[in-house]
Amino acid sequence: MGKRGKSMSIPSERERIRGELRGEPVSPGIAVANALLFETVALDVLEIDSYLVNDIPNEFNKLENALEKSREQLRKIYRQLNEKSSGNAQDIVKIQLQLLDDVSLLNESRELLLSCRLNIEHVIARQIRILETRFASMDDEVLRSRFFDIQDTYQRILRNLLNIDHMKSDPLKRIETDVIFIANRLLPSDIALLDFKKITGIIIEEGSALSHAAGMLKSIKIPAIIGAPGAASLIHTGDSLILDAYSGTVLIWPNEDDKLVYTKKRRELPSNTPLPKTTRPQKLFTADGRRVRLEANISSVREAREADAYGAEGVGLLRTELYYMSQDHKPPVEEELEFYRSISCIMKEKPVAIRLLDLGADKLPSFLNFYEEENPQLGIRGVRYLLRNPELLRQHLSAIIGACKTADIKIILPFVALPDDLHSTLDFIYEVCKERNVSKQRLNVGIMVEIPSAAFSMRSFFPKISFVSIGTNDLAQYLFAASREDSGLQEYCRIMRPVMLRLIKRIAREAQACKKAVSVCGEAASDPYIATLFVGCGVTSLSMRPSSIPAVREAISRMSFIDTRRRLREALLLD
Ligand code: PEP
Ligand code: MG
Repeated sequence: MGKRGKSMSIPSERERIRGELRGEPVSPGIAVANALLFETVALDVLEIDSYLVNDIPNEFNKLENALEKSREQLRKIYRQLNEKSSGNAQDIVKIQLQLLDDVSLLNESRELLLSCRLNIEHVIARQIRILETRFASMDDEVLRSRFFDIQDTYQRILRNLLNIDHMKSDPLKRIETDVIFIANRLLPSDIALLDFKKITGIIIEEGSALSHAAGMLKSIKIPAIIGAPGAASLIHTGDSLILDAYSGTVLIWPNEDDKLVYTKKRRELPSNTPLPKTTRPQKLFTADGRRVRLEANISSVREAREADAYGAEGVGLLRTELYYMSQDHKPPVEEELEFYRSISCIMKEKPVAIRLLDLGADKLPSFLNFYEEENPQLGIRGVRYLLRNPELLRQHLSAIIGACKTADIKIILPFVALPDDLHSTLDFIYEVCKERNVSKQRLNVGIMVEIPSAAFSMRSFFPKISFVSIGTNDLAQYLFAASREDSGLQEYCRIMRPVMLRLIKRIAREAQACKKAVSVCGEAASDPYIATLFVGCGVTSLSMRPSSIPAVREAISRMSFIDTRRRLREALLLD
């Protein structure tokens, strides 16, 4: 964050108008605190970091492109506000859109560029400072407050100039009081960098409840909403907020009545529910005796404890990339091995399915290099990335296979599209087995089924694997060609759609015919109703958020397998 955040007393100068925003709840709870808006662009750094440019038209071009990108983003927010929100939010976005077309302001930037011949990012940062000084000296409070719109708009232009869409450093080092954290967009790697001691709530403007970021927020258990159009433009650092992450409502500058209502509501909520007393996992059967395993999706030692406490029969999905993203350097092999050992130890030697690093797209640890890609979600992700980085893959496998010696470990390959992806990765696995002196017969290898090409060619994979794990989050994204990150497209990604259920049924049938275990580890397995449909499809194991295990257990134990099939038949008729 630049000097700005510290020097301006924003809340006292801004109009304290009560406003309301809406988003999708991802982690329930109520938070009452002042806002901390994560500003990705540090002006002071840009002011120092300038360089002479020869190609002035090129700098103009960069500015034009950033303006156009900003326009598109604001128009999208405007449309979304129309659907979701109330109050004067749309007016503010409209003002920002007008500012993007304000010829006099833009001419000032152009003149500044022509006179100093320095890079355009520096020019814009300088112009924000000039405007800040100009507006700060105005007597008229209404006019003075216009600076906030200008600042928001120019920050957006800067972010687009710098292609910043995620944070690259820990933004909370200087925070001393509790805050509700607001960001335009958060990537899983950003979340891994946050210090949650001071964050009582999280509001993210872009994204959907199916995104990786949302998945992480759920497990962190801080009240959070995502897909809240306008949040990062309308809320400013220091604004007083109430976040109701049950209904997905944010109140900006709540009045006394609001505060009373929410204080009461908060008092009535069960206080931080402690983990249940660890119970030995009981085997789950449907009412007519069909066995279904319930396992947990985890990414940390803390979640392993939760999984054990909620009676998980094992870890069905350990997302290793989140462990990597919480580090600031590549973990040494022995340290990584120790991480797997501690998880297996907490799980009391129950099976742990370790997924190889699913890096790429939005999961980019700061200490690794990534490719510039046109379309990262369709790019170098999962095993594609690992196979292009053989040294990383060898070291990663060395830690996992090292852990196999003393623990019941399974290995899952992420983002497998072709049998070749599997075969090439297996070559590495066998090589490391030799080095580590582990018999490859001991290994239990499976693949994520999350790309339609794999889902429709299961039999090509079966000779080399012992299980499959269906990743419904990605499978839906790629089946319906609808980004899981985009809250406006969630209508497409419904797991309940007959085409999706039919595909899962088909995978389960093929797996059964070839005597392979089949599990679902996507977010949908945490939903008790959908979980019973998966059982009806023939899935024999479900892996989910640990806290969902009791409800899913209850729902499945109450139904016979025949009932789940009947329910599935009904669902297949609906659209
Ligand atoms: C999935 O895609 O369904 C899955 C479980 O993996 P992730 O959410 O980590 O992509
Ligand atoms: Mg996936």
